[in-house]
Amino acid sequence: MRRIGVLTSGGDSSGMNAAIRSVVRTAVARGVRVYGFLRGYEGVIEGNLKELTRRDVSGIINLGGTIIKTARSKRFFSKPGRKQAYRTLKDNKIEGLIVIGGDGSFRGADIFCREFKFPIIGVPATIDNDIVGTDLTLGADTAVNVVLDAIDKIRDTATSLERIFVVEVMGRGCGYIALESALGGGCEEAIIPERKYNINKICTSIVEGNLKGKISWIIVVAEGAAKAQDIAEEIKKRTSLETRVTVLGHIQRGGRPSCRDRILAARFGNYATELLLGRKKAKAVGIQADKLVALKFKKATDNKKWLNTDSYLRLIKILT
Ligand code: ADP
Repeated sequence: MRRIGVLTSGGDSSGMNAAIRSVVRTAVARGVRVYGFLRGYEGVIEGNLKELTRRDVSGIINLGGTIIKTARSKRFFSKPGRKQAYRTLKDNKIEGLIVIGGDGSFRGADIFCREFKFPIIGVPATIDNDIVGTDLTLGADTAVNVVLDAIDKIRDTATSLERIFVVEVMGRGCGYIALESALGGGCEEAIIPERKYNINKICTSIVEGNLKGKISWIIVVAEGAAKAQDIAEEIKKRTSLETRVTVLGHIQRGGRPSCRDRILAARFGNYATELLLGRKKAKAVGIQADKLVALKFKKATDNKKWLNTDSYLRLIKILT
């Protein structure tokens, strides 16, 4: 291959820039030119691309977001849209593509690869860590650290004011951010989509703790499990204790990538590029027990991610 493309697609996450840098520098070292498509699949459909040289990716390893922008593309869902994208690739003599994104982006990549026999390698990047076949996705570790930082600050006010804080974190169908930050932050409860929560039990343990002199609680709720506002109102109604709500929102997507995410980005970007240049098609890279792996796209998107849910929840309970 002489020319390859790279794009970031779907929800942004920290570490995308570090992955772009790794892709560009790996390919350029092998004499291959790299073109960045702007705004995900939209850029491929529109022919919106620019060459990325070694210099273009200097000073971005520590930046959140993505220098080539990301987007959701309605047109890529349709066959005519994908045909137009294929035409762009052919016209620009792009021989393979690296797609940095989440499960939706991988679904699109899989369909495109099969329709046009076009080589694509996927790099899993989503703060939700909901992609199967990889222990970690790019951005999840940074997001957890952002939440942890917020929880530490909330704890200061929770203990001073003697209150119950309900903190809503991201994670549509996946409780990864909530579980990690609740255990790491020393919180009292984690409410996650993978397990039914029992508001009665939660309130009973609050009342019992309160009788023993416990004065503050932090309850972490994954957005895919419940609304923090509803949980807070229910607790107040049943216990008559003051509750406060914090919805962390988009701050979880941003910020400087953690060291772990930068290293993951370096390894994923390098491995994905090597696979693409080695003429591998339609694979998603991942990491399992510190070993880089390549999986079929379908395997990465069609199953439910396994988390160490029960042992985390048990520990959270034991340690509060
Ligand atoms: P993420 O990759 O973060 O999960 P999305 O689910 O929004 O984000 O997917 C990103 C983009 O991938 C979509 O806007 C669309 O262009 C493309 N895509 C997702 N699913 C499909 C699909 N089934 N067919 C074609 N393209 C898809």
